[in-house]
Amino acid sequence: MFKYLRVSVTDRCNYRCVYCMPAEGVCKQSHAQIMRYEEILTVIKTAVESGVEQVRISGGEPLVRGGIVDFIGEVAKIPGLNDLTLTTNGALLTRYAAELKRAGLNRVNISLDSLNPETFRKITRVGNLEDVIAGIDAAIAAGLKPVKLNTVLIPGINADEILRFIDFVVARAISVRFIERMPFKAVELPPDDQFISEELVVASISQKYQLEKVADGSFGPSSDYHIVGSQAGVGFISSRSHPFCQRCTRLRLTSNGYLLPCLDSEVGVNIRGMTPDKIRETIVRLAEEKFAWHKQNACYASTFESSLSKIGG
Ligand code: SAM
Ligand code: SF4
Repeated sequence: MFKYLRVSVTDRCNYRCVYCMPAEGVCKQSHAQIMRYEEILTVIKTAVESGVEQVRISGGEPLVRGGIVDFIGEVAKIPGLNDLTLTTNGALLTRYAAELKRAGLNRVNISLDSLNPETFRKITRVGNLEDVIAGIDAAIAAGLKPVKLNTVLIPGINADEILRFIDFVVARAISVRFIERMPFKAVELPPDDQFISEELVVASISQKYQLEKVADGSFGPSSDYHIVGSQAGVGFISSRSHPFCQRCTRLRLTSNGYLLPCLDSEVGVNIRGMTPDKIRETIVRLAEEKFAWHKQNACYASTFESSLSKIGG
């Protein structure tokens, strides 16, 4: 069964990352097309009753949607949910970190692709690095633990910053996860070979730090290392060089109400208007179908949406 549900609460975003969206943004859905919080809560409750243990709230940028803190408070109350996390670009965390913690959020992943203010601006097109660093520190101070950074490495843009990222997480006793860029259709980067493999990153870090592999206790996609002599960690989500399709137990809910069993597929079921029983049946059917595919790797040739911001990264 699915163990993990990622929920996109909005397709809107205050950033325009080059690998995620075109400069003008993705075609926005109207308010009527976006699921109401009550509808999303019904799907999450049903998914948890069907075996989901972890829920991640994402987007677009989840913190730009009004009422997000109260919504997270409601999700946190769902019996049987073991882990509630949020993926955010961090720009609004100074405002929300403490409130989110009080509402019941367990932990947070913050996307940060450069520690150089100009490169950061170039990647996000509009973002301000200082806001995100202040957001990271606010999340740590609020006790959202563990804080993990998500970093997409892009050759020629931020690949020379690997050691700088490690210094940054060692100083804060947090973790960074390097994510290989996935070639979705909405982006303007050249489609192929725009990712840096785990082996290259490990070799680069090993010039300065000793890495100790963490035994894989979970079925998650990340390959994790402890940075010896620190409280910090580094992980890799290498969907291209080390596909994890065989271990994937993820289900996704898009902001307009489609359940997707796989990122690398056009399969999606609109569950708006369904009763909880019908949603449960749909979840069970999608799980059976997904596990019957026995997929070995993703090629991103056919995806349900053109951008991860619409699917809920
Ligand atoms: N706005 C939030 C953020 O940036 O954290 C949440 C949504 S964003 C779509 C979630 C994650 O997807 C981010 O860490 C982002 O770097 C990642 N992402 C977006 N497009 C990607 C792509 N083409 N390849 C790999 N990761 C991507
Ligand atoms: Fe927005 Fe996140 Fe996509 Fe960047 S990666 S444009 S912050 S949704």
